[in-house]
Amino acid sequence: MSKDISTELMSVCKRRGYIWPSFELYGGVAGMFDYGPLGTSMRNNILEAWRNIYKVREGFIEIDSETINPEDVFKASGHVEQFSDYMVNCTECQLPFRADHLVGNFCENPDTMSPAELEKAFRDFNIKCPECGGELGKIEDFNLMFKTTIGPGSSRIGYLRPETAQGIFVNFQNLYRYNREKLPLGVIQTGRGYRNEISPRQGMIRMREFNMMEVELFVNPEDKSWPRFSEVQNGELTLLPNDTDKTVTMTVAEAVDKGVIANPVLAYFVYTTKQLLERVGIDTEKLRFRQHLKDEMAHYAADCWDAEVLLSYGWTEITGIADRGCWDLSRHSEFSGADLSHFEMFDEPKEMTFKKVVANHKKLGPAFKEKAKDIASALESETEDNIFDNKITLNINGERIVLTDEYFEVREVTEKVNGKRVIPHVIEPSYGLDRIFYSVLEHSYFNDEKRGYSIMKLVPGIAPIKVGIFPLMDKDGLDVLAKKIFADVHSSETPAYYDDSGTIGKRYARMDEVGTPWCVTVDYDSLKGPNKGTVTIRERDTGDQKRIPADDVAGVIRQLINGKEFSTL
Ligand code: AMP
Repeated sequence: MSKDISTELMSVCKRRGYIWPSFELYGGVAGMFDYGPLGTSMRNNILEAWRNIYKVREGFIEIDSETINPEDVFKASGHVEQFSDYMVNCTECQLPFRADHLVGNFCENPDTMSPAELEKAFRDFNIKCPECGGELGKIEDFNLMFKTTIGPGSSRIGYLRPETAQGIFVNFQNLYRYNREKLPLGVIQTGRGYRNEISPRQGMIRMREFNMMEVELFVNPEDKSWPRFSEVQNGELTLLPNDTDKTVTMTVAEAVDKGVIANPVLAYFVYTTKQLLERVGIDTEKLRFRQHLKDEMAHYAADCWDAEVLLSYGWTEITGIADRGCWDLSRHSEFSGADLSHFEMFDEPKEMTFKKVVANHKKLGPAFKEKAKDIASALESETEDNIFDNKITLNINGERIVLTDEYFEVREVTEKVNGKRVIPHVIEPSYGLDRIFYSVLEHSYFNDEKRGYSIMKLVPGIAPIKVGIFPLMDKDGLDVLAKKIFADVHSSETPAYYDDSGTIGKRYARMDEVGTPWCVTVDYDSLKGPNKGTVTIRERDTGDQKRIPADDVAGVIRQLINGKEFSTL
């Protein structure tokens, strides 16, 4: 599919109420889009497919947290320091560009290049401003977070969240308590993420405000099994591991046995991602899972795979599935002083030699007076893992207290213990809803030369309208029966569209173009003769038609949505 197809597709989407560029009235803003009525419905259907897998099948819990977060959160997460792209301005027209995107046609893996390497590439390949041909300036770091203040004045800095994940991490204690202090603990959240992209140019692929569906699974680092692994072990995956430039196809079990995806829990969620994407209509022939290169992976991540789809823009990441180790909870524990560990109970008490934090009561008493007792007991439940730069940060009744090592010592002890504290590890499948939405549209969009117009072959579960209902003519009682069928279909909670204008061919074309899988037509035979009481039902992709009883339409449509073959009607 060429780039022109994406322009053509976006034009259909605009005309038919899927997607509208935002603020067109005022000239538009790059990287911002509004969802029209059909787009909103389809996006909600994708969201429901994701919920059905994670919330219903896996039993994960869903939360909804704030989109504006105080700076502390993003200092802990590393976003304040590191969430930036390299930007370069044209020295003549002053337009900003993402430096790695400018070298994309000349260098492999530009997103892993340093500023010096990028500037060298500009010189070596004589790269100039794509807009005016001017010289490019110096590369700068541009933080992608939108900054704001919380309340009047500038005392409390806040940021619009660049991902929904942090809202889950900062609620870990509440979630852990809700889950009765057990692991694994799976939490999902959907909502907007905001990234002030430097120069978004690829339609819905790079937006400044976008929709995410994120999953954070907290696991005991020693537990590398997943209860339903056997259900997916024979499923096939197309993988692009980071030690080769060729894709390999293998089963989930093989990928784990050969160490291609070392962690079986991660492998399970890579396959879950394939199941979700296939279910919403991604063409699996154009889907692969690419392992991050070693220098592309965040330094704390143990492993990371991107689900990539082939689009008119080339291979494009639509989901990232990462094993993030203990980074998230360790950092929030370090920065907030809160205990974000899990207590793993042993079946029987065990004698163990370990390092224990022991409070120095002689120093704590004079320094902290009446708080000393609470501090001492909080200190003694800390582990060596929570000591950073010889300091322990505690959170005592909401107060953050940083203790240097004069207030405690670390002693090796051998004691009989009932269990041990561990910082949970995080497995994170993070889905970009808008990219999935766009990819589904591109993979479903076909120019049908015979029909002379385009068809959107959306899977029925995702299609915003399931059935178009037409009277052949808007008279002679045909409309009465058609309206009754329309009401029946709506009563069965199935979205339908009633259309009585234009030729039947035009009405089919309209429904084909927006991806409606079936159309029902009431004709004169429906009212009299041997076919009285029946209507025509037409399948979008084949154009095949059958007659079914008018009273059965609502039920038949539900059966078809649930997977019944049209040919068996
Ligand atoms: P990340 O946290 O960068 O791994 O992003 C998670 C997912 O969000 C990606 O796989 C994309 O599908 C999506 N995503 C990231 N940035 C954008 C953007 N600017 N516009 C639309 N979707 C995005």
